[in-house]
Amino acid sequence: MQNVSCNVAIIGAGPAGLFAAYELVLNSNLDIIVIDKGKDIKKRKCPLKFFTKCMKCEPCNILCGLGGAGGLSDGKLNLRADIGGNLNEFVDDADSLIKKIDDIFLKHGAPDKLYGKDLIELEKIASQHGIKFIPIPQRHIGSDLLPEVITSFKKELEKLGVKFLLEKEVKEIVADKKFRLIGNDFIIEADYVLAAVGRSGADWLAKQAEKLGIKTKYAPIDIGVRVEVPSVVMEDVIEKAWDPKFHIYTPTYDDFIRTFCTCPNGFVVMEDYGDYISVNGHSSINEKSGNTNFAFLVRIELTEPVENTTAYGISIAKMATTLGGKMPILQRLGDLKAGRRSTWQRIEKSYVKPTLKNATPGDISMALPHRIVTDVIEGLDKLANVIPGVAEDSTLLYAPEVKFYSMRFIVGKNLETNLQNFFVAGDGAGLSRGIIASAATGIIAARGILDKALH
Ligand SMILES: Cc1cc2nc3c(=O)[nH]c(=O)nc-3n(C[C@H](O)[C@H](O)[C@H](O)COP(=O)(O)OP(=O)(O)OC[C@H]3O[C@@H](n4cnc5c(N)ncnc54)[C@H](O)[C@@H]3O)c2cc1C
Repeated sequence: MQNVSCNVAIIGAGPAGLFAAYELVLNSNLDIIVIDKGKDIKKRKCPLKFFTKCMKCEPCNILCGLGGAGGLSDGKLNLRADIGGNLNEFVDDADSLIKKIDDIFLKHGAPDKLYGKDLIELEKIASQHGIKFIPIPQRHIGSDLLPEVITSFKKELEKLGVKFLLEKEVKEIVADKKFRLIGNDFIIEADYVLAAVGRSGADWLAKQAEKLGIKTKYAPIDIGVRVEVPSVVMEDVIEKAWDPKFHIYTPTYDDFIRTFCTCPNGFVVMEDYGDYISVNGHSSINEKSGNTNFAFLVRIELTEPVENTTAYGISIAKMATTLGGKMPILQRLGDLKAGRRSTWQRIEKSYVKPTLKNATPGDISMALPHRIVTDVIEGLDKLANVIPGVAEDSTLLYAPEVKFYSMRFIVGKNLETNLQNFFVAGDGAGLSRGIIASAATGIIAARGILDKALH
């Protein structure tokens, strides 16, 4: 049994944990340990061609280990305070915080090139049609480079005195005079804990929070479809904005629907969660299709008497899974509008060839609530004003696409919970959904710890 004592224990070596450690070590002499259940980035390998198919740590290492979730992805840095979370909730200087994080990535080898300039024209056309286009400066690190960048960052952290305990899973947190983090073969005692456990640790952290009396609440979910069109339809927009984000309010319900995760020349993929399936999209550097796909998602928040958005989302996903025979439901937009199911014969008549063949042609209106279907149809019609061709009868829709978020921890501005000296950051606490936002919350929590520890 390994017994270690430190001032600050950080659970999770994703962006939130790493950037928190950096802020702490640069500004104090505190003893800092970063613990992660996954491996070093160099040892993380994903054998699957489309790694989004696998959402578990074993045998795939996609979500866990040094660098965190997306450590093996192509690493798009969205350099905007309200993308992947809302940093303005916690700090007044969100832009300088983002610049600081970007500079650290640059220092460790991220490419200089910045995408997403000169977007005024697109913004103008979108707003003329009642759509908000979100211009985002983006940096693209690339999957080849990302492991090098993370390795270099870890080396600097170690040189500054941060200790890493990798391949060690914290099983239980005990709060006494000090905190005790207990694993199979270790106990770590700490004055302060920062839980930065990401999506892969979110359920575990929520259970620990319940046990420790830490307050949380349900977060909204996103439900909708994956839209697939010929690449030429999106070409002009993608040339200007790599992953274009359009925010729309729909006429009938005044609901919020948005484009997300655009995959130029990409493929639609299925994710199997056991009880239900969902769709996702992927672009590959080596293999390209003639289509572009993107998620089109309605934001759903529930109020009393039922706030459990997760249970609601799962029940919708299960219904769609049953109707699709454990495969996504595929439908042409024209068929959906005409109130008839799609069949392979109808789809073959269409000039968009589906990139996901393991799908069941059917009727999405039998699977998703009327309100979501109405939002999707109206939202696409609006979007067609900015992207002509996106709402043609031949446009393909795959359902369901469901994005769940972690329980949202109720925190103060410094990200301390109601349990004294217990801080949270990143995706696992429902505070972010992206590399930059999670890193920023890590720094904010670190500043909160410094404030308490040094005064
Ligand atoms: C395939 C994929 C591609 C992505 N691409 C992008 C992108 O291009 N741009 C973007 O902005 N975002 C992207 N994301 C999202 C981004 O990776 C996350 O938002 C970000 O990593 C969240 O950071 P985090 O530090 O909060 O958590 P994570 O990165 O999830 O890190 C949490 C760490 O905690 C560890 N952990 C969890 N529980 C325990 C425990 N009990 N004991 C010890 N360790 C534990 C995990 O092993 C993990 O390494 C992608 C995600 C995925 C899955």
